[in-house]
Amino acid sequence: MDPILQGLNEPQQDAVTSPSNVLQILAPPGSGKTKTLTSRVAYLLQHHRYKPWDIICLTFTVKSSREMKERIAKLLGSDTAKRLVLGTFHSVCRRYLVTYGHLIGLHKGFGIADSSDSTAIIKRIIKRLGLKIDAKKAQSRISSCKSKGLHGPDQQVGKQKGELAQQLPQKKNVEQQEFSIVFEEYQSQLAKSNLLDYDDLLLSCVDLLRQNPTCVSNVEVVLIDEFQDTNVVQFDLMRLFAAKNKRVTTVGDPDQSIYGWRSAEIKNLERMQQQYPGMITIHLKDNYRSSGAVLLAADEVIQQDTSRPAKSLLPTHCPGTMPVLRRLPTAEIEALWIVFELQRMAGLTGRLLAYSDFAVLLRTASLSRQVESAMGRAGIPYRMVGGKKFFDRLEVKILLDYLRVVSQPNNNDAISRIINTPARGLGATTVKALLEEAETRKLALWTLLRNSTQNTTRTNLSKAAKQGLGSFVNLILTSRNKILDTSNPDSPKTILGYIIEKLDFQNYLQKSHPDDSEARWANVEELTAQASEFTVCDANEWKEDDDLPNIEGLEQQRGNAAEEALAKFLANVALASELQKEEEDTEGKGALQSQVTISTIHAAKGLEWPVVFVPSAYEGCIPHSRAEDTDEERRLLYVAMTRAQALLYISCPMKNSQREETAMSPFLSTKPVTNLLVSQGPTINSSTVNDIARILRRDSPTQAQISEACETLKSVHDNLWPLTGEEEVKATGARRSKWDSNESSEHPYKRRRMQDS
Ligand code: ATP
Ligand code: MG
Repeated sequence: MDPILQGLNEPQQDAVTSPSNVLQILAPPGSGKTKTLTSRVAYLLQHHRYKPWDIICLTFTVKSSREMKERIAKLLGSDTAKRLVLGTFHSVCRRYLVTYGHLIGLHKGFGIADSSDSTAIIKRIIKRLGLKIDAKKAQSRISSCKSKGLHGPDQQVGKQKGELAQQLPQKKNVEQQEFSIVFEEYQSQLAKSNLLDYDDLLLSCVDLLRQNPTCVSNVEVVLIDEFQDTNVVQFDLMRLFAAKNKRVTTVGDPDQSIYGWRSAEIKNLERMQQQYPGMITIHLKDNYRSSGAVLLAADEVIQQDTSRPAKSLLPTHCPGTMPVLRRLPTAEIEALWIVFELQRMAGLTGRLLAYSDFAVLLRTASLSRQVESAMGRAGIPYRMVGGKKFFDRLEVKILLDYLRVVSQPNNNDAISRIINTPARGLGATTVKALLEEAETRKLALWTLLRNSTQNTTRTNLSKAAKQGLGSFVNLILTSRNKILDTSNPDSPKTILGYIIEKLDFQNYLQKSHPDDSEARWANVEELTAQASEFTVCDANEWKEDDDLPNIEGLEQQRGNAAEEALAKFLANVALASELQKEEEDTEGKGALQSQVTISTIHAAKGLEWPVVFVPSAYEGCIPHSRAEDTDEERRLLYVAMTRAQALLYISCPMKNSQREETAMSPFLSTKPVTNLLVSQGPTINSSTVNDIARILRRDSPTQAQISEACETLKSVHDNLWPLTGEEEVKATGARRSKWDSNESSEHPYKRRRMQDS
């Protein structure tokens, strides 16, 4: 049998080998959509003899694109995998813009403004112009306009924009006027700093491909994962990428559409049929991920949405252990309970489960504090995905800003953040004055600074300030010369090392943060380690191997190798710090240690873990009080639940971290759902451990290993869990369910199956 088809069921094989030009795979979570899509890429390469760069494969997260590449590398070799144009929408669009951006007037070496850069720019505009509009609101409105294909506030529906353009409301109230001003000013600031924000990456790529379809004249097939969460611009990108011969494969699941709040268009699934009338749809039914009991509970939750077509999750695994729904007195105790159950499961299953098998999935990143602190106290290693993280740490941000300025001296915002860090006698008033002067003289701040250091007659700067400015300009200039030196260019790591040395950065950290300078220095070392992955030689290699193919008649933009290595490193940081936050800690030191994942539910899309905790399941959190679409909130819970393979724990504190009384999420309080959940974690014995092992397709630990683990952990337990059974009953009204305490031998899973049949 063809190795590409091995381990796939019949409908999956049909999808992989389908001769249809336009194929849509619609299927529930865990049914192997991503696996099938990956196999189809391999199959097309192998049997249709396409070149790797003739296929564009778009994913939602960096992690899944990496997993897909690894699988293809296993099947067809790493050379092929490396040359594939396979990545997130943002990274693929960036690649096209780096190569062909000059055709639409983009300047070479553009930088990427991440969302905190955007916020800072918008805040500064609002302040400078004395406007009243809320910065965050303006930012999300700008993003929402751009996701619909609008380049500016006043863009009218134009024929050439087709369905991309949508008219903004005509009502020009004050807020609308202010919004228009901010939007325009924001775009102009980005352009001046040679920056694109995340939305611009996609929007500019649409412009590029509209005006220069030749750029993708080699593309044979376009494949897209998680199609239900694409927006209008992404739909357009798909059409443009596939313009040559309209070969498209998409996979998706309407029940997992969770990005409506970010302008994702579930209607894109229907638009496929109109756009490509010959489209064939394949359904996959069997679930290979989760235990029967997990699927039953998830199914019951999604069935509450009566507007969706009736369909069920069909397990291929044993029923396994019933999911837990637990009420706990406070958010703090909830976090302790999670740690307790986690220790218990990791310990009692006799090394079957490692820390990396556990995930805590949160409705919002801000909920992580309690869990993080409980994990910290118990000494459990964890990595935080989708929240404040490595790249947001002060010392890391400072150094990245230096690199940004070296790469892009026109980045006013980055300059103003670091010009006086470490202190150089350039206080906030001086920086403000410099910025204003640059603004009035219509100069980039960098040009003004350079001129100022050369112009000895300038009097409005103190001697100390002039000196400080001189040293700053000098540092940037020498670092820039190091990359621009064509005979012996320096790598990002060398430049970073040079900056660290010149700033005497370790000493600066010791003085400015005496309490935790060591930890901060460790972050600096980690950043250096990450930078070392982007060598000048890599950039050369990237040009030849991983780059887009040469297309006759089209001039490709080439930068110098060192500049490109630095720009690629910075782009990687910027792209890793939004949706794809899972990227970071998997690199470098973090990957060596087995860590629990703490993630937002949104960032957990498409992924799976043996054990999943979903805390804070209270009304106001799921569904979120500010969410407009309750059905989308339910789907979010459904996505969280269906990430679990063997064990699922949902919990709800009676008081949230603001000490407000909470009610259980309405999605979980209906009888049919509660019937499928129990209030205590499973009793661990050899039969439960074997079940878990079977679901995970791992070897079961021996009875001796389990007994030994039980003995070791027994003594630790009493210290771990702060409440005695009785106290907890008093505090929470919790009781062991009938099934869980073995008073009834009837597993609800069996009951439901019997009813079904
Ligand atoms: P989601 O909707 O959550 O993205 P999905 O439909 O993309 O899920 P995959 O992630 O591709 O599902 O697959 C889920 C799990 O099932 C993976 O561990 C995958 O390896 C496994 N799997 C898929 N198909 C099969 C199969 N035919 N036999 C055995 N395991 C399979
Ligand atoms: Mg998937």
